[in-house]
Amino acid sequence: MIKDKIAVITGAGGVLCSEFAKGLASKGATVILLDINKEAVFSVSEEINKNGGRSFAYECDVLSRKCLESVHTDILNKIGKCDILINGAGGNSKRATLDKEYYENGDENSLDKTFFNLDKEDFGFVFDLNLVGVLLPTQVFATDLINRDGVIINISSMNAFRPLTKIPAYSCAKSGVSNLTMWLSTYFATSKIRVNAIAPGFFVTKQNKDLLFCDGKPTKRTEKILNATPMGRFGKPEELLGTLYWLCDNEQSSFVTGTVIPVDGGFSAYSGV
Ligand code: NAD
Repeated sequence: MIKDKIAVITGAGGVLCSEFAKGLASKGATVILLDINKEAVFSVSEEINKNGGRSFAYECDVLSRKCLESVHTDILNKIGKCDILINGAGGNSKRATLDKEYYENGDENSLDKTFFNLDKEDFGFVFDLNLVGVLLPTQVFATDLINRDGVIINISSMNAFRPLTKIPAYSCAKSGVSNLTMWLSTYFATSKIRVNAIAPGFFVTKQNKDLLFCDGKPTKRTEKILNATPMGRFGKPEELLGTLYWLCDNEQSSFVTGTVIPVDGGFSAYSGV
């Protein structure tokens, strides 16, 4: 049952997680929305409340333990202990995206963005956002979930199974998210917290639109992605909801923990031939 549960969702001002928030609210959960983008997260919350749902919004950086703790205290005082934590904040950055897919002669000294001049700070920014951005909210909010049939859902990616070209920081961070999901599922198994991850295929959102479209036209990368997706299209955010509801529901998925579930139109199953 999802009704009357309290769900904390990070990255809830974004495309996929705002859909999660609206979906869970429509099932009767109280949703608590966290995002570094204040305007976006308050606007999602307003929309949910206008439509009869119950939501609360917080401006919060998932990389600041202090901020997470202060939000957590406020939630405990005003709303109660959370039952579900969805670690959705994440994404890639242009600064950590290489210009080319393959090494070319001279790349060591090129002015293009190559593997060789990839900046440690830029790499670290993307790596931390995606991996440490799961670790810190889990450290803070899992205290609510212990011995209460709690649920943690992390958002991994296709990059976790096999890295995608050009985005090494995002790829290895997401593979870390899948690994951490399995690690946490074991660590918390005896304290009745189930930890799973959803690995979305390709959905057009704020954080990847520059890679997928240029002046409104699909890039070469988009062509490659769609050719490698047997269903031949991008996913729609609402197509993640069935898996989300199932993982959140302690009756439906009571024995499911430590899994990373692709929702990808067949991308991860397709060998390319
Ligand atoms: P999005 O850009 O629409 O949403 C990401 C949200 O995270 C934004 O609202 C952003 O403000 C927020 N955020 C960024 N840094 C933050 C921080 N430090 N603290 C708090 N919030 C922060 O992108 P999306 O595609 O909806 O991303 C949601 C999740 O899904 C991400 O973890 C992403 O990596 C993952 N994902 C997306 C796809 C896809 O195809 N779109 C595929 C696989 C995985």
